Amino acid sequence: MRCPFCGTQDTKVLDSRLVSEGAQVRRRRTCGHCQERFTTFEIAELQMPKLIKNDGSREPFDEDKLRSGIIKALEKRPVSIESIETAIARIKEKLQATGERELPSRIIGEAVMEELKRLDQVAYVRFASVYRSFKDISEFREEIERLESGRTTPEEK
Ligand SMILES: [Zn+2]
Repeated sequence: MRCPFCGTQDTKVLDSRLVSEGAQVRRRRTCGHCQERFTTFEIAELQMPKLIKNDGSREPFDEDKLRSGIIKALEKRPVSIESIETAIARIKEKLQATGERELPSRIIGEAVMEELKRLDQVAYVRFASVYRSFKDISEFREEIERLESGRTTPEEK
């Protein structure tokens, strides 16, 4: 690693330790040329898969959106922020563990339902009813679009 003071590549790591509960590595470094010391932090680059929406378009994974959806479902419920963060971490791990670069967005909805089921039954029912009705609306819209475009429904439901 290049020294930020003199620019030489001749730097050494003096000491490494875990910080932020093991999520980061902090390294003290020294320059063999000017003897200055500096610190670097190392964190894992988490590549989240892209989400494929019902209409086939792709959108990036949005952790804030996931968090606000879960918090909304858990409104006024006796569930700690820490449990919510753990659930979010578990959902992210699950998505990453698939090893896929793209996943259908419903995978997130299902993962959220699974976590809520574990955290709070009321929140689970709340989320599931909203989530399912959204799915129905999009199915309904697809049906309308099909009718408007003059095509016939390929299957009876
Ligand atoms: Zn230097």
